[in-house]
Parts: sequence; structure tokens; C-alpha cells
Amino acid sequence: MEATKDSPKSGKYSYIDYLFDPLKGETICRWVLMLPGAGCSWSKEKHGGCHMCGFKHENQKYTLGFRFPTFIFTTLFNMCLKAIKHKKPELLAIFNGGSFTNDKEIPHKTQLKICKKISQVQSVERVLIESRPEHITTEKIKLLISHLKEKQLIVGLGLECVSDEIRNKSINKGFLKKDYEKAIDILKALHVQVLTYILIKPLFLSEKEAIDHAVESAEYAFSKGSDYVVFNAAMVQKNTKMEEFYSSSKYTPPWLWSLVEIAKRTHHLGAIRIGDLSEEPTPLALPQNCDKCTPLLMERLKQFKKTHNIKVFDDLGCDCQEKWQQELTRLHPTLT
Ligand SMILES: [Zn+2]
Repeated sequence: MEATKDSPKSGKYSYIDYLFDPLKGETICRWVLMLPGAGCSWSKEKHGGCHMCGFKHENQKYTLGFRFPTFIFTTLFNMCLKAIKHKKPELLAIFNGGSFTNDKEIPHKTQLKICKKISQVQSVERVLIESRPEHITTEKIKLLISHLKEKQLIVGLGLECVSDEIRNKSINKGFLKKDYEKAIDILKALHVQVLTYILIKPLFLSEKEAIDHAVESAEYAFSKGSDYVVFNAAMVQKNTKMEEFYSSSKYTPPWLWSLVEIAKRTHHLGAIRIGDLSEEPTPLALPQNCDKCTPLLMERLKQFKKTHNIKVFDDLGCDCQEKWQQELTRLHPTLT
């Protein structure tokens, strides 16, 4: 799940930002809308959901503990639209901290009403929703498309890693590669665009393994027909399995050099993006380099988001690169 905000105009439920879309070849205006759904069903199961996900505890902020009726969603939609309409966003990204297509999280009636409302927003050409693969069915997607009318639907799938073993042991994602492939086949058959999320550095991976698996996962996602790949670098959120390992010095988020390396090794594959590094809720630890070069690298990653120009990383160098390279020679995660 990507739900970040680096815009000074950020609101609680909605904000505007700008990013380069390599498929369109231009910088586009994106409207991000956070819908207060009931929260990810997977995270509510006994096992506690994905190891890195802090949204299960954050959801309360958006829902205030209530399950909202449809009119609250539509009122919220109208209110947020009014605030950003003059920006004429071309892309609408809806995040609900789970699966938009899961009726237990966003009631079915609400899903359709929201789609109908989107169909009436003139500037919006495309709309992104997120879903776990098990909530993607031909019937459900067809219905959403019919309510969106001529708007292009994009579905974000959190594959996280091509390896079933890493996806399930290091992340606890709870589905297999074949489930992702089934969902992507359904979506492509209905001319829906697919955006695949890949997690950089799940638990139990060395820095080098983290880079290699991210690259391999992107190659795989594009080979299966994914239109976009977004890499989300792991950040340590409170009350997660990842926090347990981080607190006992058994895990650190990836180096920013690793993010740059992944961008360099995958940008030629297609529309890739590195997700923002200012996640909500505020993480306990973020990907970083040394204190000296971290601000510059963060700035260049933002430039990459807005330009998709890999040359923004060309003239970078710092003493800490040597330490990062040493880290890459280690076979196991460093226990600091
Ligand atoms: Zn440095």
C-alpha cells in the first residue's frame, strides 16, 4: 500500500501531487484520496497480516472506529473534490488501507457509487484502486468499469516479491504467484491497467538479496503484463513484526544506494517508480545513507519521481558508498 504525502497542501483525506508517467511521457497531476474503509481484512486475521504494514493500527485515524454508511463516503468524496478541483487532476489514486474491491472493507454499493461519481469528474482520465488478488473477479471488475464509463481503471496489486517463499515467510502476504497471475489475467482481459507494488528489503534478506529480488520481481511483473511497477522501500512502522526485528537490531531498512541501484537496473524495463519515503503513519526508521548524503539522495529520488530521468543519479558519490559496497558482500543480514 502506498499512501504518502509530500505536498504542503495535504489534507487528512485528500491531497494533490505530481509525478512523471513514463507511459504518457509527461508529468501528471495526481489526486490522492484516502477512503475510510473498514481496514484490511487480511490484517485483522489472527496472524496479524503483513509484517511491515502499519496501516492496521492507523486505520482508526480515518474511520474513528466507525463503519461508515455510503453517504459518508460520497459526502467525503464531494468535499475533497471541491478542495482540489481547480488543479484538474488527470489521475485519481484511491487508497483505503486494504482492498477497494473487498465488500467487507468498502461496501459494494459504496464502491459503485464512488465509481459513478468519478465518471462525472471531467479532468480525471484514470483511476487507481488497490486490491489483494483474491478480491479480483471478472464480475466485480466489469461492474466497476461500467460505472466508471470511459475512465481508465488501474488496479494496484501488492505482489511484493516474485518468490513465493519470501512473499509468505518474510512478508506474510498469504498468496501465491499463481494468484497474482490469475488476477492479472482477469484484469488484462478487461483492458484494465495493472500496477504492481514491490517491497524493497523484506525481513530476513541481506542487502544484496534485497536488490536482486526487487530487480527480478520487476522483470517478472512486466513479463506478466504489468503496466507499472512501484518499488516501496521498507520502512519500520510501529506495532509490526518488522518493528520487533528492528528493535532487537535484527533488521535495518535498505540503504538509499540500494534504491538507486534498483532504479538503474530496472528503469529500462518500463514505467517504474520508487514510492515516496514519507509514509503515513510516520515510521520509526526509513531507508537512509550517512547523514551527509541522505538529504541529497532524498532530493534526487524526488526528482526521479517527477522526471523518470535516470541521469539524476549520475553525479552522486559519498564516502559511505564503500560501506554500502561492503554490506553487499555479506551473505546474511547485518546484525548491528
Ligand atoms: Zn553518504
